[in-house]
Amino acid sequence: MAPASASRLSRLSAWIGGTPDPRVMDMVIPADGDGNGDGAAPTDLFAQIGAFLDRHALEPTVEHFRIARSFVLRDDDRLVRAIDHRLRDGGAIDAALLASLKPCAQADPLGSRRIAEMADALAARLADTQSTVRQSHASARDYEQALSVEAGTAGSDPDGTIKRLLALTTRAIARNRELADRLEETHRETNLLRSNLEDARRAADEDHLTGLPNRRCFDARLDALSAAAGNLDAHCVALCDIDDFKAINDRHGHDAGDRVLKLVARHLTTELGASVLVARHGGEEFACLFEHCAPDAVLASLDSARAMLGERILVNQATGEGIGRITISGGIARIGDDTAAAMRAADAALYAAKRAGKNRMVFTAPSA
Ligand code: GH3
Ligand code: MG
Ligand code: MG
Repeated sequence: MAPASASRLSRLSAWIGGTPDPRVMDMVIPADGDGNGDGAAPTDLFAQIGAFLDRHALEPTVEHFRIARSFVLRDDDRLVRAIDHRLRDGGAIDAALLASLKPCAQADPLGSRRIAEMADALAARLADTQSTVRQSHASARDYEQALSVEAGTAGSDPDGTIKRLLALTTRAIARNRELADRLEETHRETNLLRSNLEDARRAADEDHLTGLPNRRCFDARLDALSAAAGNLDAHCVALCDIDDFKAINDRHGHDAGDRVLKLVARHLTTELGASVLVARHGGEEFACLFEHCAPDAVLASLDSARAMLGERILVNQATGEGIGRITISGGIARIGDDTAAAMRAADAALYAAKRAGKNRMVFTAPSA
């Protein structure tokens, strides 16, 4: 190892072993317990992260550490793809690339800035409209006043009055035309902005890969449900996760993985029916909201969707290579008075399904 990189590695170890940033420690020691931390022992993780930073001569900053960790655990698909692509192309994994790779959670997937900009533009156009309408009223008032003045002098100077009235009317018509054109233009702009805003709102609620509602949309629906009066016990949530999905990516590539995600999304929405909200909750995980549906009916419905999916034999369209069968596991929970607790219970049930051997649905009634 070159002395420079050796010293970088020793700085990293000192940094890790000295006074580690507690946020980094939280990230390094997987506390998820959902089987997705890929089971790497923390020391292995340190070694792999250190090796990654060292190999690419990267400073051991918190941000680099976070990105290296995500890459080693392969838990952020966008980031993994960008680094994999760069490695495949033989390019450098340098600070500039890493700076462009903020983890997904920190990015602005909702385009909320864009929506805010459009809302500002709409408000400005609305103000334009109001001002144009005000000017139009003022100009009509001016015209009326001028007419009444002329009416007073009509008897003494009829020829002059007619000339002045003609001039006044011509000016008023020109002014009105100008204002009408401005209103028309503002109206066109407002309509365009409104439709862009609608598109952005729709995009903010949609997962771009599968076209399903995204987690934000799902959470909003849950919030609306809990805000509405009524018995939340009548509803259930479920979390479904594709079994061994990482192996599909590893064997057949990310694009094939993406196609499998789309297929599972389509399968779930078709099999569960329009009354069930199916959302992409993240990665290869789908959240389902069953309103007014008892747990046994939810279990039956999900289990049937699971079994039907497991019967399909998939082929990679791009290569003709067999992917084989894919299965899903799921956890179901009744929504009590706390939707977040219900999601945690569904997650715990999903974990139980994974531990029990995958390819199954589990409902755990909350312990009294
Ligand atoms: P388990 O049965 O325990 O759920 O194992 P698993 O392999 O399905 O789960 P793991 O969490 O180990 O791996 C999930 C993988 O999903 C890792 C990640 O790269 C991949 N993934 C997440 N989002 C996407 C995506 O949008 N497209 C593709 N192709 N892969 C994704
Ligand atoms: Mg999985
Ligand atoms: Mg998962």
